[in-house]
Amino acid sequence: MTTPDVTTPVDTTQQTPTVQQLLAGITDPAGREVLDPATGEVVGRVAFGSAEDVDRAVERVRAAQPAWAARADADRIELLQRAADAVEASAEALAELLSREQGKPLNGPNARFEVGACAAWLRATAATELPVETVVDDGETHAELHYRPVGVVGAIGPWNWPMMITIWQIAPALRMGNTVVVKPSEYTPLSVLALVQVLNDVLPADVLTAVAGSGDVGARLSAHPDVDKLMFTGSTATGQAIIKSSADTVKRLTLELGGNDAGIVLPDVDPKAVAEGLFWGAFINTGQTCAALKRLYVHADVYDDVCAALVEVAQAMPMGRGLDEQNVLGPLQNRAQYDIVARLVEAARDGGGKILLGGDPDPSAPGNFYPTTLVADIDDENPLVAEEQFGPALPIVRYDDVDQAVAMANRLDVGLGASVWSSDREAALALAARLEAGTVWINKHGGVHPMIPFGGHKKSGYGLEFGVEGLKAVAVPQVISY
Ligand code: NDP
Repeated sequence: MTTPDVTTPVDTTQQTPTVQQLLAGITDPAGREVLDPATGEVVGRVAFGSAEDVDRAVERVRAAQPAWAARADADRIELLQRAADAVEASAEALAELLSREQGKPLNGPNARFEVGACAAWLRATAATELPVETVVDDGETHAELHYRPVGVVGAIGPWNWPMMITIWQIAPALRMGNTVVVKPSEYTPLSVLALVQVLNDVLPADVLTAVAGSGDVGARLSAHPDVDKLMFTGSTATGQAIIKSSADTVKRLTLELGGNDAGIVLPDVDPKAVAEGLFWGAFINTGQTCAALKRLYVHADVYDDVCAALVEVAQAMPMGRGLDEQNVLGPLQNRAQYDIVARLVEAARDGGGKILLGGDPDPSAPGNFYPTTLVADIDDENPLVAEEQFGPALPIVRYDDVDQAVAMANRLDVGLGASVWSSDREAALALAARLEAGTVWINKHGGVHPMIPFGGHKKSGYGLEFGVEGLKAVAVPQVISY
C-alpha cells in the first residue's frame, strides 16, 4: 500500500473538477474504506501511512523549508491568495466530497459554508501583517522583536470540520515561512487529502504534504525530533497524550481541545427573538462543533417560553442526507459518536429529564442519524449536562439566580466558549467577565472570524489561532538589541 501523493496537482485551470477527479489523485484501491455516514456506502479508499511515511514526509518538508522561508513575504502572500482561488475553483466538488464523507449537508452552515471559510481564511491570513515591533528605543538602547519561522509544523485535526480546521492550522504556518505535514482524522481523510491536493496545485513542491492514518501517525508526528511545532485540534485526552509525547523534543504546541460551552439566558430576553440564534449556536454541524452551545441555562421567568420557541425552531429544520439540498442537519459522522449521544440522552431520560423533542432514534434506519433532541427540567449534575455530547441533543437547565447560573457554567474543567443572552448590553458584559471561557459571545454563540483570536481556557487547551496572534503562534520571537 502506498501513501497518496497529494503533491500531484489537480489541474483546476481548465475546468471545475468533479468529485471523481478529486478522488482519482488520492485514493488507493487497496486502501481502507471510508464510509458515508448517511448511507454506509463506500466514498473512497485511502492508504493509511506508517511511522516511516511520517519520517519521509518530515524529511521532505524539512528540506524545502529554508527556501520557502527565504522567499519574499510578498510571494507567500501571493501564493496563499492563489491557493484561495484554487479552492474556490474546486469549491463545489470539495463541498460534495465533504458532505459525503463527513455527512454534513451541502446547505445551511455546513459543507459549502466550510469550503467558503477555507478560501476566506486563506485570504485573511494572506492579508494579515506581523510587523517588527520596536520595544525600547530610548537613545541608549534599541530593541526590536522579530518573528521568525519555527521550521516544520505538524497539523493534526479532527473529523467535524476537517477542511476548515486544516486551513486554520496550515495557512498561518505557511504564511510565516514554515513547511507543514498534515495528519487528518482517520474518519475524514478524503476531504483533507483532496484539499491539500488542490492547494498543491499552486504551492511549490514539498512545502505542504499530508499523511493519512490513525492515531499512531499522529503520535509519530508529535514525537518526531524534526517537527518544531504542533497545531492540534481534537479531544482533551489526545491533547494530553500529545503534551507527553512532545515533551522530549520540547515542541511548541497549540492545543484546541474539547469544550462543553454554557449559554446563560437572562430574564429580559424576548424568547422568540433569541430562539433561532440559540438553535444554531447549539446545533451547527448537527452539534458536532467544538465551540457549540452544549448546556443552556435559562432563567425561570422565561424558561417555558424559551423552551417552546426552541421546539418550534427545531421542528422546522430538516435532517437527512447531506446531498439533498433541503437538509440543514445531517447524521453523526461516526457510530462511536452516535453511541455517545444515545447514551447521554438515555441518562437524561433516566434522570427525570423531560424530552421536549426527539430522543427516539430508529435503530433500523440506515446511517448515523440521531434526531434533534431538546431536554428540559434536567438536573445540572446529569451526564448530558456534565459531559460533552458533541451531537444534536441540548439540555436546558432552569435557574433562579444569576450567581447560581455562573457557578454552574464555571463548574466544569473545560472552558472553550460561553454566551450570554440579554437585551441589556451592560448586564451581559458584566456577566461575560465572570465566565471562565476563551471566548464569550453576547446574543450569539460559536461564530469565529479570521481576525479575532480564538483559544481555550482550562482543559480546552492553550495557544491562540487567527489574526495577528495566530501568526505569532507559528513563529519564534527573536529580540535584536543594540
Ligand atoms: P481525537 O482527539 O480523537 O482525534 C483528533 C486527531 O488526533 C485525529 O486526527 C486522531 O487520529 C489524532 N490522534 C489520535 N491519537 C493520537 C495521538 N496519540 N497522538 C497524536 N494524534 C492522535 O478527536 P476527534 O477527532 O474525535 O474530535 C472530536 C473531539 O475534538 C471533541 O472532543 C471536540 O470537542 C474536539 N474538538 C475541538 C475543537 C477545538 O477547536 N477546540 C474543534 C473540533 C473538535 P485518528 O482520528 O486517526 O485516530
